This record gives sequence, structure tokens and C-alpha cells, in this order.
Amino acid sequence: MPAPTRDREFDIAIVGLGAIGSAAAYHLSRRGLAVCGVDRFEPPHDMGSSHGSSRIIREAYAEDPLYVPLLQRAYELWEELEHASGRHLLTHCGGLMLGEPESELVEGAQLSARQHGLDCKLLSAEAVRQSWPDTFAPAAGTVAIFDPRAGVLAPESCIEALLDGARAAGARLRAGAEAVAWSAEAQSVQVELADGSRIEARQLLLAAGPWMARLEPALAQHLQVTRQVMHWFEVLDPGHRATPERFPAFMWEHDSRRIFYGFPDQGEGLKVAIHHEGESIDPEHVERDVTPDEVARIRALLERYLPGVAGAWLRSAVCLYTNTADGHFLVDRHPEHPNVILASPCSGHGFKFVTALGEAIADLFEHRRLRFSIEPFRFDRLTRPDANRTRVRAGSARFVGSVRDV
Ligand SMILES: Cc1cc2nc3c(=O)[nH]c(=O)nc-3n(C[C@H](O)[C@H](O)[C@H](O)COP(=O)(O)OP(=O)(O)OC[C@H]3O[C@@H](n4cnc5c(N)ncnc54)[C@H](O)[C@@H]3O)c2cc1C
Repeated sequence: MPAPTRDREFDIAIVGLGAIGSAAAYHLSRRGLAVCGVDRFEPPHDMGSSHGSSRIIREAYAEDPLYVPLLQRAYELWEELEHASGRHLLTHCGGLMLGEPESELVEGAQLSARQHGLDCKLLSAEAVRQSWPDTFAPAAGTVAIFDPRAGVLAPESCIEALLDGARAAGARLRAGAEAVAWSAEAQSVQVELADGSRIEARQLLLAAGPWMARLEPALAQHLQVTRQVMHWFEVLDPGHRATPERFPAFMWEHDSRRIFYGFPDQGEGLKVAIHHEGESIDPEHVERDVTPDEVARIRALLERYLPGVAGAWLRSAVCLYTNTADGHFLVDRHPEHPNVILASPCSGHGFKFVTALGEAIADLFEHRRLRFSIEPFRFDRLTRPDANRTRVRAGSARFVGSVRDV
């Protein structure tokens, strides 16, 4: 086990203790490194990207098959964390990806299933209606991929478990401590906090989620923050049809590549949301109130695709996506400071990966061989002139193959 540094107070400073910062703190501190992490709020909190009680985890990854090995490691680590923390983090309920046979969601999930030999089923609209009577109402011609390993992570509990584990391993973690500046030399970094204090360390992780560009202005042109709304509805549920034992997490591609998604009722109602389509915002000035129009829009989707399931609207909440142009993550060394790592695994789909990416970041800091390639998450791909031509959805150009190949 490496000893804490002698000439600097900490081995690693971490700015941002949300999903990826807490996961990195967990792995680094359990390896015996001296970690100091700060967060401007009190994580887990509801100001960034990691709140709202649920995040889908799925193995037949529609965005790109390259994510599957990373996901498989993430599943192992979530299980280990559940065991070590004694907390319930992952609810197994399966997942349905619905859409036209040629939709990105269906084709992408199939491609991952085929390339990695995953045990998924292709279902017709009729089979979906029979398997989940009086819930999903796909039109004739819609198909679905059922992913039996899909489930729901509880993000706030996950972050608590990671931070508790990091603290127990000796990490010094400070809430309500905002980093306002940082600098790096070859062997050291300094982070200045809003209260005038300073952290010195050998290496630095910038994991500030929607606020990344405030800490590294060069990222401003490559990361677009969008306002995303989550909604909860009462379930009209005489037969408990929407509980996790009977109702999978789902994503539904409809009307020319739009996607909405939802979760089983785990005591707070049916949660549903629209993927992407949120307006671009400054994370310092977010409209947190949700309009009746926004609620009406999601209710219309529910009436069309899950008629008779949703009753009264219960509440809505605003969350933030930090998007790259190609929808893949940013996890890389800083182009000018090799002892600084930039980590923004978002674009609306990063939570499920953070255990595995936290481990990869620890490996990067320790110059160890990585278990899987993080090549697609490199910073320099974002600076290429063609980067902004791709759409904000991961790997959309990569979906090939067809339903007939399954
Ligand atoms: C509505 C919604 C639904 C989603 N659904 C899914 C899903 O189903 N499955 C999935 O896998 N992913 C999903 N995601 C994506 C996932 O939640 C994100 O990828 C993930 O939460 C990003 O984590 P992060 O650590 O980058 O950001 P955050 O968790 O927001 O953490 C950033 C932290 O940095 C702190 N910070 C910022 N600036 C400073 C500073 N100057 N000083 C100190 N601290 C600072 C913030 O306070 C914050 O705690 C969803 C996201 C949203 C918003």
C-alpha cells in the first residue's frame, strides 16, 4: 500500500464529489492514497446531475457496444459496493428498449447484444402487450429488446455509499467548499477555495459536472449543459402492475429519434422523463420551476404509450445534462497538465458507469494498465473540426445491423 505523500499534504485533490468524484475518491482512498475532496454543495444534493432517486443501468447498450465491457465491470463494482456498504443500491427489474425495428435504440441494443453474446430477447408489439398487460401499448410494427440485466440504481444512496467508503479509508472530504481556482506544476497542484484556504496535492481530478467549464474555460466550447425535467405520477394500479417485480425500466424511441424513458414505482410513483431536448443553460442560472406545459407534454406521451397507468401528477424536478457533441464521455488527462485529470461522464447516460470509471481514473493516476480502453473519451476528439457535426447522442452514427440479424 503506498504511503501518504511526505512532501505534499495529499496525493490527490478532487474538485466535485458528485457521481464520478465520489467514485474516484472511493477507489483512490481504498488504495491507500491520501485524498482530499471538496464540493461546493453537500453531496448527495439536488443541484447537479445526480439526483431524482433513480438511474437506469442496462447491459445491451444502445449507444455503442464499446461500452459493454465497461458496464460489465461497473455491475461487478456496484455489487461489491452494495455488499461492502450494506445499502440497497441496485433494483433488478429488467429493461425494455422499444421503437421501430430500425430505431437507434433497438438496433443499438441488438448490436451490443450480438457483439457481446448477451442474453436479450427481441419482442414483437403483441408479445410486449401480452407480457405486460394493461401497461405498455406499442403500435403494431414496434418491437422491443428485453434486457434481463437492466435495473435501477439509487443515485443518492450510491453517492453516500461511495463517500462513506472513501471517508472510512481515510479520505478528507469537505462539503460546502467551493474551488475558485487551481494551478498545476510538474509535480504539484494547488486548489484555492472560496474561503481563502488552499489544498496542495501531487495530482488533481476535476469532476465538477455541469460546472466543469467554470474550472477549465477551454471546455466551454465543448460541453453544453442542458436543463432536463423528471416527473413523477401516481400509478393507477389496482394490480400493483408498476412495481419493480412486474414492470421493467424502459426507454422508448418514437417520432423520429425522440426518446422518453421511465422507471417502476418504488414508492414515489411512476417516474418518467424525456431524454435530451432540454434547453441549453448556464448552470449558475437554472430555472428550477417546471411549467404546466412541460407536465402536459410528458402526460401526452404517457397517454399515448402507457394509457391508463398514470394518475395524478405528483411532482417534477430539474436536473442537468453536460453534453459532448458526440454523446461520449470526457475522461482524460488535461492536455497541458498530465497530473490533472478531467472527468465528465455525462451526456445523460453516465451514472451507471461511475464505479468502473472511478477505478479507471485511479489507475490513470497510478499509471497502471487500464482494464478497458477509455480512448473514445479522449479530450482531443472534441477539438477536431468535425466533432460538432455529430448529434448529441452517443454513437448515433455507429448503429448498423438490423432486426433480421438477431
Ligand atoms: C434527469 C437525468 C437523468 C439521467 N438518467 C440517467 C440514467 O438513467 N442512467 C445513467 O447512467 N445516467 C443518467 N443520467 C446521467 C448521470 O446522472 C450523470 O452522468 C452523472 O450524474 C454525472 O455525474 P458528475 O459527477 O459528472 O456530476 P455531478 O454528480 O453533478 O457532480 C458534480 C459535482 O461537482 C460539484 N462542483 C461543481 N463545481 C464545483 C466547485 N467549483 N467546487 C467544488 N465543487 C464543485 C457539484 O456541487 C457537484 O456535486 C441522468 C442525468 C440526468 C440529469
